[in-house]
Parts: sequence; C-alpha cells; structure tokens
Amino acid sequence: MSSSNADLTRFWSHKVHELSPYVPGEQPKLNNLVKLNTNENPFPPSPKVLAAMEAQLGDTLRLYPDPNATELRQCLAGYAGLSADQVFVGNGSDEVLAHAFQALLQHDQALLFPDISYSFYPVYCGLYGIEKDEVPLAKDLTINVADYQSPNGGVILANPNAPTGELLGLTAIRQLLTANPDRVVVIDEAYIDFGGQSAIELVPAFDNLLVIQTLSKSRSLAGLRVGFAFGQHHLIEALERVKNSFNSYPLSREAQAGAIAAIEDEDYFQHTCQANIAQRDKLALQLQALGFSMTQSYANFLFVTHAHMAAKDIALLLRKRGIIVRHLTSSPRITNYLRISVGSSSECDTLVLALKALL
Ligand SMILES: *Cc1c(COP(=O)(O)O)cnc(C)c1O
Repeated sequence: MSSSNADLTRFWSHKVHELSPYVPGEQPKLNNLVKLNTNENPFPPSPKVLAAMEAQLGDTLRLYPDPNATELRQCLAGYAGLSADQVFVGNGSDEVLAHAFQALLQHDQALLFPDISYSFYPVYCGLYGIEKDEVPLAKDLTINVADYQSPNGGVILANPNAPTGELLGLTAIRQLLTANPDRVVVIDEAYIDFGGQSAIELVPAFDNLLVIQTLSKSRSLAGLRVGFAFGQHHLIEALERVKNSFNSYPLSREAQAGAIAAIEDEDYFQHTCQANIAQRDKLALQLQALGFSMTQSYANFLFVTHAHMAAKDIALLLRKRGIIVRHLTSSPRITNYLRISVGSSSECDTLVLALKALL
C-alpha cells in the first residue's frame, strides 16, 4: 500500500538525502546530431580492439574474469616503464578516482583542488565525507602550484585541467610533490595524450604520486569503461584494498582483452592523437577568426568565450541546428564560456558554418 502524499524519500538513508550527484553531459538518443559535448573521440576504436573483444564472446563468458587483470596490468606496466604491482585498473577512471578518494584522500584535513576543474571531485567529497578546499584558479584560468602548499589532506589536479585544457609541466608537478611530502598528490591525466607530458616518469622518484589515466578519450573507448592508475606499490595496495572490499571483478573479459589490444596498437593511437591535435589547432584558429577567445587547450576540447554573444545563447542556437556543446555553470567565472569537443573534420566544418550564420 502507498498513499499519494506519503514522503517516499523516507526510505532513503541520511547519506542519500545529502548527496548531490554528478550530472553527466547529455547523451541524446537522436542520431544525426553533431555531438560535441562530452569529449568523446571522433575516430573509431582500433579495429584490433574489436577483434580482441569478439574473441572473448564464447563459452568462457560462463567464467569470472581474472579479478587481478594480470595480463592487462603487465601490458600497462610495459607501456609505462613500471612493474605490474605499480598499476591499478578499474571500470573507467571515474571508478579509479572514487577508490583513490576513499583510499588515499580521505583524511582529517581538507582536500585541495581547483575551484574550476572536473566536477566529479566535489561529488566524491560528498559521497565519502571528505572536507574540501577549492583553490581559485588564477585570473587567466591557469593553476599556480604555489597555491597548493597550505596544510591539507591531499591534492588532486586534472592535467590538462578540465574544462580549461590548460597544461602544467613536470617542473610544476615536481614542485607540488615536493611541497606535500606527507600527502598524496593525484594527477588525473584523462587528456594527457593530446600534447602534454605525463607525470608517470616521476612515479619512481615520488612515493606520494598517483597518476590516473583512461582509455575513454585518447583511445576512443568511452563505452568500454577502462581506467587505470600508476603509483608506487604502497599506493596501489591501498586502492586494491578498497576495490576488493567493493567489487572483485570490475573489468569484464571483453574489457580486459580490448584494453590490451588498445595499448598494443601504438601506431593507431599515435595517428589518431596527432589527427585530433591538428583538428583542434585548426578549429581554434577558425573560432578566433569568428571573434572567440579561449584558454590554451592541450586537450581534445576548446574552452571559448565570445566578445559579443552570450555563451548560453550560442549554445541554445547551436542546439536548434542539431549541434550540442557544453555550457557549464558550476562557477560564476565560467558561465560565459562554452566547452566544445573537437569532433571529426566534417563535424567541425558544420560547427564553424553554423557559428558563421548565427553570429
Ligand atoms: C572524462 C574524464 C574522466 C573520466 O573518464 P572515464 O575513464 O570515462 O571514467 C576523468 N577525469 C576527467 C578530468 C575527465 O574529463
């Protein structure tokens, strides 16, 4: 029995009442939209990934996958120049991040991250009861690492940052690690393959560094859900303790096989990354010619603002023409910006033509 005016949320836990969940970019069901709102890669995954996954679709699906993803971790270790016990894998880097928050960033002092960054960070703080201190970006929307030296419970930065695309070099990362010797510094490198230098090479020198990457962006595999972390073994062990208290089998057989094939197909990876970078730089020039200014993006998106037209209006007008971009409103400082994913060359042409018409 239920009565219409009863408060059905009375079944919820206190925790659930308090949560403010992440809102992902729209995934519309319509087919012929130009979808430039969630930073998906316009290139298909490597054909070798599809072949490797198909090979898994048989009788062995009866059996659980390798809970330790041994072969995949060895493959990633080879890629990173580390050992397999310095690698952790999870169901998308969002899951790896979630485990890192719980395993390594939940301390008595506040976690530091930029006020404008990946909006999942404050959500995990809410889920795990972690106090946060959101450090303002500089006026030009860049990160100044000297701002991350106050007493803290840990530091997490996206590098390149999202949604600005701005990149920190390894000298700055090293400075951050040295300034926080007793706290874990997490570098979320979801976009590092589009022109940045990974902090993986600092792992052997710093016992407080965890680097997180994903197959979702640069390997065109957002639908596969594979992310990973690199760090010294004591950090990986903390992640494994959480994972094995939550879900021992996060990666399916197909995901493990597909991920290995993706990492092994280095030629395809290099080729598609270079093509994305070239397309990004071309689109940046075209948008500048239309009166947009932008941050310096090292990612597969541009973060743009127009001198004469409000971001909100541009987003609405583009939407009417079947083009979706992301208008983020998480901070008042960025409400006049749009984040536009770098699409295929024909998608970018469609975008530029539409902007020409409406500006
Ligand atoms: C896309 C993105 C992720 C999440 O990637 P998944 O591996 O698909 O979960 C993590 N961090 C940042 C900054 C991202 O933009």
